Amino acid sequence: MKAQILYGKEDLRLKERPMPTVKDREVLIRVKACGVCKSDVDYYFEGRVADFIVEKPIVIGHEASGIVEGIGRSVKEVKIGDRVSVIPLIGCRNCDFCLNGTENLCRNRKFLGCPPDTQGCYQEYIAHPADLVVKINDSVTYEEAAMIEPSSIAYNGIKVIGGIEGNNRIGIVGAGTIGLLIGALLNSNKKNKIYFFDIDEKKLSFAVSNILNSKGYVIGKDDNNLPADLNMAFDVSGSSTGVNVAIKRMDFKGRISLIGWSTGERSTDLNTVVLKELMLRGSSNFTVKTFKEVAELVNNGKVNLKNLFKSGFKLEDTGKVIIDVKNKKFEKPKAVINI
Ligand SMILES: [Zn+2]
Ligand SMILES: [Zn+2]
Repeated sequence: MKAQILYGKEDLRLKERPMPTVKDREVLIRVKACGVCKSDVDYYFEGRVADFIVEKPIVIGHEASGIVEGIGRSVKEVKIGDRVSVIPLIGCRNCDFCLNGTENLCRNRKFLGCPPDTQGCYQEYIAHPADLVVKINDSVTYEEAAMIEPSSIAYNGIKVIGGIEGNNRIGIVGAGTIGLLIGALLNSNKKNKIYFFDIDEKKLSFAVSNILNSKGYVIGKDDNNLPADLNMAFDVSGSSTGVNVAIKRMDFKGRISLIGWSTGERSTDLNTVVLKELMLRGSSNFTVKTFKEVAELVNNGKVNLKNLFKSGFKLEDTGKVIIDVKNKKFEKPKAVINI
């Protein structure tokens, strides 16, 4: 079978790999679609993301969907022919975090396509634990199913500060993929009012035209007109400026979800956090439960992801697509490879 293997910085090669062997509790998946994540772009150009370093050849890619073509002996959850989205986060299943359904915090978790040696999904077949796939309806395309993974990161960030319901005034700092997905999820409750903040006017106008009834503000330009009574905000930018924009725009007792991150320390306007009694809450990846909840929203047509990605690329094109994503060639925030 064919696989895109990353040998080091800017060195991605299409190679033959042996078919994976399927253990008792695993399924064999013919991968059909895999999204390009910012982390894939960083592995390709920088050879690392934080402390995860490409030291030996690895297949990257983790936003995947496909069809089940084989099942291990003790698999009951799925059958051959099921269309599935892949949960790429694999907890140890033994620690307190895993046993409490917070696999995202497991110290021994693995993540598909993550160095040094957890192989990912830019390849034709993967073997994967049967309880870490979610069935998708026939109405959902493989490309949309690949979007469930980044949507789960967005949804986890929403859940940690209260969820979709209510009558909220929401600020989203950073109008990239995750920011847009937060908007798309929150938009499933029509009572929510959504304001995007970014320094990039192009990103903002895409966000505003795709997330119904949202408004966009350019940081540094529209500052005097920004709303100042938010009760929920999300920082996806990972920058000090971004977090401080959110802090400044909150009403008393507001809740801020911190999803973006960057290397190095950040300075935060903690005095305002104290004065307004704000709550700052971090959100890391997603849990298995969160992923399944998002899959249900997508299966039931509650969240519309269709306009947020560009697809139609082949496995052979993966390197070029990663370069094009880096160079912001596409209008849509996400590119999805068809495999
Ligand atoms: Zn990702
Ligand atoms: Zn664990």
